[in-house]
Amino acid sequence: METALTIAGSDSSGGAGIQADLKTFSALKVYGMSVITAVTAQNTTGVRSIATIPTNIIQDQMEAVLEDIPVGAVKIGMLSSSHVIKTVVSTLVNVKATNIVLDPVMVSKSGHHLLEYEAVQTLKEDLIPIATIVTPNLPEAEAILGRKILCEEDMKEACQQLNELGPKYVLLKGGHLEGDPVDVLYDGTEFHHFYQERILTKNTHGTGCTLSSAIAAHLAKGNSVVDSVHLAKEYITGAIQHSISIGQGHGPTHHFH
Ligand code: PLP
Repeated sequence: METALTIAGSDSSGGAGIQADLKTFSALKVYGMSVITAVTAQNTTGVRSIATIPTNIIQDQMEAVLEDIPVGAVKIGMLSSSHVIKTVVSTLVNVKATNIVLDPVMVSKSGHHLLEYEAVQTLKEDLIPIATIVTPNLPEAEAILGRKILCEEDMKEACQQLNELGPKYVLLKGGHLEGDPVDVLYDGTEFHHFYQERILTKNTHGTGCTLSSAIAAHLAKGNSVVDSVHLAKEYITGAIQHSISIGQGHGPTHHFH
């Protein structure tokens, strides 16, 4: 049985975070496991409060899983602080984890900070270099690189700059630009462009979490990174097309359709 582990925050409304990741793993028929880094009290309209889990408990969760069960791929989401990042990095390096998909979660769609501002430097120096693939959206890439990204040509340059930080692949998601979205995948030599018609819906809560965990699930099944991104793009497109209008804010994507 293929397995995948998510290291991320809990979303009480079930649309993003750990819950989105586990639903994605199940839908893609991969056995899912979870290390919870933070508990958020939130619904489709926003985040009310956040409790970060103590780093010794995060490390214990990781070691308990990794010492016992073979992990085919690891997806990393919300990490809250520099301390949490350092704990996660040292544990992953100790066990020589492979197939690491990093979604550099920073701010929720409702505008809540899910990563301390000062932690961006630690993310850059310690975590991005060990990632197999890093999947920022445009605001996250801008925060990491300290520059604006205004068009597809800028995206290609930004991919090259992100690649210099050390990950094997960069998937830069262009959904924040106007018009039909384009995502750019870069492996250090070649660019792949993913074009998609914009799906008109307000139900986009948890899309980043779902895409990155779908990439992890496909890597766990033995696919190449490029194939995993292709398959995960197909999965997230279906999940947005079938998204659910529940709650008063941004509804969630749907995993079983
Ligand atoms: N809450 C948690 C726990 C998350 O991990 C994420 C992931 O990005 C979010 C919220 C953000 O979701 P959204 O950007 O859809 O608001």
